[in-house]
Amino acid sequence: DLAMIEAKEQGSGRYGVYHTAQGSVRVERFALGNELRRATDRGDFSLQYQPKVDALSGRVCGMEALVRWQHPEFGAVSPGRFIPLAEEMGLIVPLGRWVLNEACRQMAQWQQAGMIPIRMGVNLAGPQIAHERLLQEVDEALAQAGLPASLLDLEITENFVIRQPELTVSKLTQLRERGISLSMDDFGTGYSSLSYLKRLPINTLKIDQSFVRDIGQDRDDEAIVKAIIVMCRSLGIGVLAEGVETSEQLDFLLRHGCHHIQGYYYSRPLDPPALWDFVDQHGMAGSC
Ligand code: C2E
Ligand code: MG
Ligand code: MG
Ligand code: MG
Repeated sequence: DLAMIEAKEQGSGRYGVYHTAQGSVRVERFALGNELRRATDRGDFSLQYQPKVDALSGRVCGMEALVRWQHPEFGAVSPGRFIPLAEEMGLIVPLGRWVLNEACRQMAQWQQAGMIPIRMGVNLAGPQIAHERLLQEVDEALAQAGLPASLLDLEITENFVIRQPELTVSKLTQLRERGISLSMDDFGTGYSSLSYLKRLPINTLKIDQSFVRDIGQDRDDEAIVKAIIVMCRSLGIGVLAEGVETSEQLDFLLRHGCHHIQGYYYSRPLDPPALWDFVDQHGMAGSC
């Protein structure tokens, strides 16, 4: 039972050591790894797209591509589970390449169908940043789809930055020079020092959902959210809140000057046709 395995793995950590009585867990995990390798070879994934909304106008200002893996036996495996596994197994570079190509292909198709160009966020894992062919692969994905670099926003997390700061700054700078936007994902959960924020060519900071979740309940989280918004404003960085689910959270964010919103309050991640309908209903406004 996959849910149980997942619970056990989370309980004992990603590299958890299991007791012999739980030997079957190891076997399942091994099977999942093999299946992931096969899926990666075949590009057996799909993408959903979650709208980013400018709450001042209620219009869509961007979206984020989120990978999905539907396994015939295991069912839907969450990215929170298979992305770390892909990183461990050295599969994240080809998997990430598939995501980037597919997101660009979809965006080009939407544009041909008449959608106003809007920026697309694609998550980038640490090993992808380190990979020597990153820049070529990004160029190729855009060129193949016939898209301008300005429509792409790459979302990176803090922890890789601290491990390889020189390399990261150099890679990110080269991406920025092409006109690609960069977002710092899950901000506040990692270990990067605030001084990196100044050195990194980041356009937008995404406030992690763990802080947003407790707005209205936890004064400390509210203080952190307010501080992040103020800091972004004084650094001249854009700010977006993730995981916004309630009108109370939204009101708080608006009151404190953060109006770029992503979360179930507006929409869950959607299949392409549903994303099209959402955009059709809400309209579009600039890019965030
Ligand atoms: P993330 O990049 O921070 O993406 C946001 C996650 O929060 C998504 O989960 C999204 O479905 C979820 N979410 C959005 N709004 C809400 C909300 O209001 N409430 C709650 N509870 N959740 C919300 P998902 O799709 O399961 O992805 C989880 C993580 O897996 C992502 O976090 C990202 O780190 C990683 N991931 C997903 N797709 C990719 C990918 O293509 N490449 C890489 N490298 N990582 C990916
Ligand atoms: Mg993200
Ligand atoms: Mg995030
Ligand atoms: Mg809390």
